[in-house]
Amino acid sequence: MRAIAGEGTTECEWLAWDAVWSWPALPLDPPGSPLVVAPHPDDEILGVAGLLSLLGSADLAAVTDGEASHPGSTMHSRGELAAIRRTETADALRVLGLGGSRVHRLGHPDGGIDEDTLAGELAGLLAPDRWCLVTWRGDGHPDHEATGRAAARACAETGARLLEYPIWAWHWSYPNDPDVPWHRARRIDLPPAARAAKSAAIAAFPSQIAPLGPAPEDAAILPPHVLARFARPFEVIFE
Ligand SMILES: [Zn+2]
Repeated sequence: MRAIAGEGTTECEWLAWDAVWSWPALPLDPPGSPLVVAPHPDDEILGVAGLLSLLGSADLAAVTDGEASHPGSTMHSRGELAAIRRTETADALRVLGLGGSRVHRLGHPDGGIDEDTLAGELAGLLAPDRWCLVTWRGDGHPDHEATGRAAARACAETGARLLEYPIWAWHWSYPNDPDVPWHRARRIDLPPAARAAKSAAIAAFPSQIAPLGPAPEDAAILPPHVLARFARPFEVIFE
């Protein structure tokens, strides 16, 4: 697993990397509504909110409720955090114009995803050629990788199209990192309206972008230098 600590690669370094602009654009031609799979509430927004707003429809598979985001919180129990994050997801989808999306709550424990069970559950939601947007199998977070692997199996079984979005790789990785499949990268350019919609959707997650309280255990999970990576004018998926 990767160390997800410190400042990581800055957004300035990513934006200065020429290769980004040579990656092919992803043609936005899904055969119907895609399925977006999120290990934790907010992954789908950080990764592909702009894409979802451009497509105008999506169903969500929420693998966990993200109850382990603040293990030592002095403010909220795990149950309370789960409820808060479920509500935040609903708010974010509404902000994106996707308030009518079907949300499949799969109820896996945060930090303890059952990969075999999840592969079966996702296969039941997929169909040939349907887009399956999911965290990248190499993202460096155990839940993100388990979810990516389960989705890859479900796509292989059903003939759905696997499109993986990195989240934490933008932190630990760096331009030209040989451990990242840059040759599979596809760019989704976000017009101003889609960028604004994504920004508003991210703001729907106060439990993650702001401290829950003054104690160190209640610190923001997504501080400004992390959020900067998700304010860029494009998104990236691995085809
Ligand atoms: Zn996550």
